[in-house]
Amino acid sequence: QKFVYDFTEGNKDLKDLLGGKGANLAEMTNLGLPVPPGFTITTEACKVYLASGSEPTALRDEVTAHLGALEARMGKKLGQADDPLLVSVRSGAKFSMPGMMDTVLNIGLSDESVTGLAAQAGDERFAWDSYRRLIQMFGKTVLGVDGELFEDALEEAKRAKGVTTDVDLDAADLRGLVEEFKGIVSKETGRDFPQEPREQMDLAIRAVFDSWNGERAKLYRRQERIPGDLGTAVNICSMVFGNLGPDSGTGVAFTRDPASGHQGVYGDYLQNAQGEDVVAGIRNTVPLADLERIDKASYDRLISIMETLETHYRDLCDIEFTIERGKLWMLQTRIGKRTAGAAFRIATQLVDQGLIDEAEALQRVTGGQLAQLMFPRFDEKAKTDLLGRGIAASPGAAVGKAVFDSYTAVKWSRSGEKVILIRRETNPDDLNGMIAAEGILTSRGGKTSHAAVVARGMGKTCVCGAEELEVDTKRRRMTAPGGVVIEEGDVVSIDGSTGKVYLGEVPVVPSPVVEYFEGRMHAGADDADELVQAVHRVMAYADRMRRLRVRANADNAEDASRARRFGAQGIGLCRTEHMFLGERREMVERLILADTDAERDEALGALLPLQKADFVELFEAMDGLPVTVRLLDPPLHEFLPDITELSVRVALAEAREDANENDLRLLQAVHKLHEQNPMLGLRGVRLGLVIPGLFAMQVRAIAEAAAERKNAKGDPRAEIMIPLVGTVQELEIVREEADQVIAEVEAATGTSLKLTIGTMIELPRAALTAGQIAEAAQFFSFGTNDLTQTVWGFSRDDVEASFFTAYLEKGIFGVSPFETIDRDGVGSLVRSAVEAGRATRPDLKLGVCGEHGGDPESVHFFHEVGLDYVSCSPFRIPVARLEAGRAAA
Ligand code: PEP
Ligand code: MG
Repeated sequence: QKFVYDFTEGNKDLKDLLGGKGANLAEMTNLGLPVPPGFTITTEACKVYLASGSEPTALRDEVTAHLGALEARMGKKLGQADDPLLVSVRSGAKFSMPGMMDTVLNIGLSDESVTGLAAQAGDERFAWDSYRRLIQMFGKTVLGVDGELFEDALEEAKRAKGVTTDVDLDAADLRGLVEEFKGIVSKETGRDFPQEPREQMDLAIRAVFDSWNGERAKLYRRQERIPGDLGTAVNICSMVFGNLGPDSGTGVAFTRDPASGHQGVYGDYLQNAQGEDVVAGIRNTVPLADLERIDKASYDRLISIMETLETHYRDLCDIEFTIERGKLWMLQTRIGKRTAGAAFRIATQLVDQGLIDEAEALQRVTGGQLAQLMFPRFDEKAKTDLLGRGIAASPGAAVGKAVFDSYTAVKWSRSGEKVILIRRETNPDDLNGMIAAEGILTSRGGKTSHAAVVARGMGKTCVCGAEELEVDTKRRRMTAPGGVVIEEGDVVSIDGSTGKVYLGEVPVVPSPVVEYFEGRMHAGADDADELVQAVHRVMAYADRMRRLRVRANADNAEDASRARRFGAQGIGLCRTEHMFLGERREMVERLILADTDAERDEALGALLPLQKADFVELFEAMDGLPVTVRLLDPPLHEFLPDITELSVRVALAEAREDANENDLRLLQAVHKLHEQNPMLGLRGVRLGLVIPGLFAMQVRAIAEAAAERKNAKGDPRAEIMIPLVGTVQELEIVREEADQVIAEVEAATGTSLKLTIGTMIELPRAALTAGQIAEAAQFFSFGTNDLTQTVWGFSRDDVEASFFTAYLEKGIFGVSPFETIDRDGVGSLVRSAVEAGRATRPDLKLGVCGEHGGDPESVHFFHEVGLDYVSCSPFRIPVARLEAGRAAA
């Protein structure tokens, strides 16, 4: 096994082994770009070190050999007294973890070689400043000395001299500081700063390995869902200096604007400085375009390199570079991060430039980015008053009055106020307040904090971890930096896409992308912005590419029409229980209370025309497309009054001796139907089997509605779906009855309806016996909500607000299995049910209608297992279309 690769040996596809930085340095080297020579120690070496606590034995010799080659090429030895080779030791994992791991510059300087460097550079101040930086960085990151001690000493030196910037310290001052820094190291670590260059290098390498498991890095990985066992590579790179005078400098550049995608010259430059000066913001940078004036030759070279890189990587790249005495050096490049809008624009721009094809363009955007673009947002033109910023935890733009506890949130929102719930952090007790609020703001916690997880689950705007905002829940106020105080009732605006928090009301505008999907803005229209055009084009790529069809979960004509505008190819789930709300609830109550057949028939008879009318509307809105109607699913007590409230009411009435007959009957029924675990009780197909006439009424309503549409020259395509089936026998009984009702309606109306009957697969037993169930079902629709609930034994209504935060923090799963399909567990049941079902009935139609149908990662899974369609809520249809296209591309 080889642990060290020269930059000339690697390439950009070796990110697993060489880390992102190392792979790209190698790629640039091999493109003939000016990269300072160096080599990369692999992530494999890091993994061995992390597992065993010591470097692999072969590593030392390999480093020696590569260092020797580097020295030979540079014509000087590491730390050589009269002309030292200096190197940087930089971390670089597969995924970028900005600032999370360690880097040490100027390795090779010592009491001896500092004078050699001064002589070679002809600049004594520079040499001592470099040495000072080495001891400071090495002391802090390798030896674990408190960085403040060095900072304080530096500040003190400036104060003593009466100057404010580092640049005003001369060689003698810096020489004094070096002595002082060395003293700090000896005092804090009990050993002297190592003078031996190779020892410096080896210790720095080890420190980079160790930094993989630093607290900061671990936290970042958890939040970004980066696996903890990848390890980091270490890049040893010969130093070039941007701080050798006015003809030197350092900068960052983007090959196009990461915010808009426009091509141009974007970046910053800082004359006579090293990279960390830019990051630390010590001095003000100038726009990259100014470099043309400062150093035309380097500028021209840089622009041409940027073109090379963009053409080579076929994507936006970001770049770090240094100019050493008029010579340009490339220190890093990588595929640049960009905003969601820019991702769409860049993808289409690159297609236009002929750099990528449509399939690849689909890989350059994500459903998550599209979802972000669909949230309403704050009007960019509005004047705003920024209070502070936190972590963008759940997107959206929310405005409301500040409240500091759940109780007030609920109370105020009931009286029609819009509120923002502000807490230091949230816990399950805050749930009602979170539901009542427009948005949630916390001053503590990251992307996996309770507030963030729950808000995302609810689709509610959330900014968390806004640490600069001091929340005082006792006094019901929040203090922003600068002393602005927000009292309860003051209006604030929070932006869950940027993490920004504003004072007062910022006007909200609808997303142009939603306006486009709604058909209120046309991609070809003059006022359609570039973003809408780009989204329009990418959606077309996806629709051309995808194999999965996309349907909607909708149960009224309005949702169905919207779904259709958004591109739905039918309804995959109409939950009929949603048609029994409002005043119809009492009619269901009558059905439940019926003692005699006559009473029951009367109750059903009253419901029939209403149901039928619902279906007529729905079939009309989806004319020509399939509509899957699910028969009644939820436990009956959901249609009855709450047991406690009713008991109290009856008890009070009895005390007054005016209890009414109906309430008493109702209470009896409520008691009879009360279940400890209603999700596993009398619901779904079980209702149809024990309540005579219920399913028959629903089937009749569907059939009559279809017949009516047919006779009106419509094209209804109804599919009848039976929920919560666990065994084929249940389905057979229900089917027999349904077939009979359909035949009756066909005979009575003189139509041939071609209704199909299928089932949900949402219980483990159904999945396990899918081969048998397919005998009686013409289609399956996976109900992954209930299937997840029953496979994990997690109550879908309770667990996310109770212990999921702890599970996420412990890394038991990276995302709730109710949000993204659990491939290994639930997913494997889906996969085997698909195979067994198709084995029985090759033309079995297969879909999914659980929440996962609109989740990007899950859509890829459903594509892989070969479903025919996914079904999701109307607003998620564009995301599902896009992801279905991405999965097939
Ligand atoms: C499901 O269980 O996945 C499903 C779609 O049905 P419901 O959410 O209505 O239980
Ligand atoms: Mg279900």
